[in-house]
Amino acid sequence: MTVMPIIQNSNPLLHKTSQVVSDFSSAEVSQTIVDLIDTMREANLIGMAAPQIGKSLQIFVTEIRKTKYRNPQEIDMLRVFVNPQITNFSTEVISGFEGCGSLREPAIFAKITRPKKISVKAYGQDGQSFTLDGEGLLSRVIQHEIDHLQGIVCIEKQEEIITEEEYLKMINQQQ
Ligand SMILES: [Zn+2]
Repeated sequence: MTVMPIIQNSNPLLHKTSQVVSDFSSAEVSQTIVDLIDTMREANLIGMAAPQIGKSLQIFVTEIRKTKYRNPQEIDMLRVFVNPQITNFSTEVISGFEGCGSLREPAIFAKITRPKKISVKAYGQDGQSFTLDGEGLLSRVIQHEIDHLQGIVCIEKQEEIITEEEYLKMINQQQ
């Protein structure tokens, strides 16, 4: 198990486009995926992108589950996305608060409006392509992580910022 330090928003590494993966069988790719999963789980995150652990590669992972910050009605299995592309956005949009492992010093949460549903095409760790239709939290997480691969941190899209304390108070009142 390797939990990596999470690169914070001020670091230029988070603000450049990541490189397309060409060799799916490389040790760097498999190690990056393992490190992303371990670090995502340790950090109470439901998604994490390679540049957040200092790897400029088009890779992210998601796992919609109960964490310190989320208690989703629908959980979703661990997924690995390599070279992802969103192929369709819904015209219907929805706003919601997003946290980020790279916005933790101190932790803040950003309200962002995004398309409600998306379709994504990507490759799995084995190099096989797949397509996935996402809605709800999964759609939001996929869009957030693809932004990371394009050098965008969610705070750049924020409509409102709240503190961790305010966020936790808000979600506790909703439950
Ligand atoms: Zn993030």
